[in-house]
Amino acid sequence: MEKIDCAVIGAGVIGLAVARRLAAQGREVVVLEAEGSFGTGISARNSEVIHAGIYYPADSLKARLCVAGRRLLYAYCEERGIAHRRCGKLIVANSDGQREELARIAAAARTNGVDDLQLLSREAARSLEPALECSAALLSPSTGIIDSHALMLSLLGDAEGKGAVLAVSSPVLGGEPDDAGIVLDIGDASGTRLHAGVVVNCAGLGAQQVSRRLRGLPAASVPPLHYAKGNYYALAGRAPFSRLIYPVPEAAGLGVHLTLDLGGQARFGPDVEWIDSIDYSVAPGRADAFYAEVRRYWPLLADGALLPAYAGIRPKLTAAGQPASDFLVSGPAVHGIRGLVCLYGIESPGLTASLALADYVGDMLTGF
Ligand SMILES: Cc1cc2nc3c(=O)[nH]c(=O)nc-3n(C[C@H](O)[C@H](O)[C@H](O)COP(=O)(O)OP(=O)(O)OC[C@H]3O[C@@H](n4cnc5c(N)ncnc54)[C@H](O)[C@@H]3O)c2cc1C
Repeated sequence: MEKIDCAVIGAGVIGLAVARRLAAQGREVVVLEAEGSFGTGISARNSEVIHAGIYYPADSLKARLCVAGRRLLYAYCEERGIAHRRCGKLIVANSDGQREELARIAAAARTNGVDDLQLLSREAARSLEPALECSAALLSPSTGIIDSHALMLSLLGDAEGKGAVLAVSSPVLGGEPDDAGIVLDIGDASGTRLHAGVVVNCAGLGAQQVSRRLRGLPAASVPPLHYAKGNYYALAGRAPFSRLIYPVPEAAGLGVHLTLDLGGQARFGPDVEWIDSIDYSVAPGRADAFYAEVRRYWPLLADGALLPAYAGIRPKLTAAGQPASDFLVSGPAVHGIRGLVCLYGIESPGLTASLALADYVGDMLTGF
């Protein structure tokens, strides 16, 4: 049986960031990826926004790791020449109630260490974005956009540069802990069994299934998984905006917002559609509800301008109608298995938080 110091399960942005961190510490690392390439899961189907860290409950992992991760990510992008733009975003209010909500959001953001938000009058907001309709807005100058594939390529390059190996088409089927680590069964062409001293489960939508197949892992330590699909619609033509535009957040999501890619193409979404199985199709008919939502802040959106684009699926730990959960990083203190860390519910802002989350996991594994 082959032996390795560290096995990272899943080559999305989180697994690659964790692999990079462990390899940088001089550890021997293999990344086991079920698909034929890295970065084809949640990390390929998101808004590519570098979030400031505004909305998350104080002291939550989401808040701490988003703010820390955002700073690390901008510095990393600068250092490595990864395409990104600190374009800023406006959160817009369209009623008195929502104006009060903006003040509450700004206060909560300050608690999280986001201290650069500016409350703007309608006129000030429209001087920045003349096509915008609103009664007031919050400007977040430190929100930006990033080429997430280029980020993952760079993380992989760093990890490989320190000796890490990516094994694609290598789904982890199960495993059995022993005194010195975990024996993993891999569904590759040769049915490899691999002994790893440290295992980090970063399997995204597959994380719960991987954990349930690790013998001896207490079932109670594995949280439920609920799929919350987010559909996106692209705008035909150019949008008259240079910043991201968000409504005041709604339950389970951030509302139908306008994001831009680095080429300036605008898309709207994601909405929240609770589903029972993985399905990335985007129904043209769902766009109907988008028109009304978008026209609250952009009344000139033309009929027929929204085209089905793509969908992503959030790995939610709580069901529709329940309070949002935090990232869950489950280590030996929770499940009792030496050298094992499992990451669950890594939804937004996971992309932004990836480098900080990798440091958090790396610190947990120091000494193992
Ligand atoms: C609609 C949407 C919008 C979002 N927008 C943003 C945003 O704008 N900004 C932001 O910061 N975050 C955003 N996020 C969150 C961010 O995209 C995720 O937090 C992040 O991509 C999660 O990465 P991951 O590596 O955990 O998962 P993934 O990218 O899914 O990687 C997991 C990998 O594990 C592999 N795998 C699964 N099972 C196995 C197995 N048994 N064996 C081996 N490999 C396995 C999968 O094939 C996959 O490659 C968004 C998420 C969604 C869904």
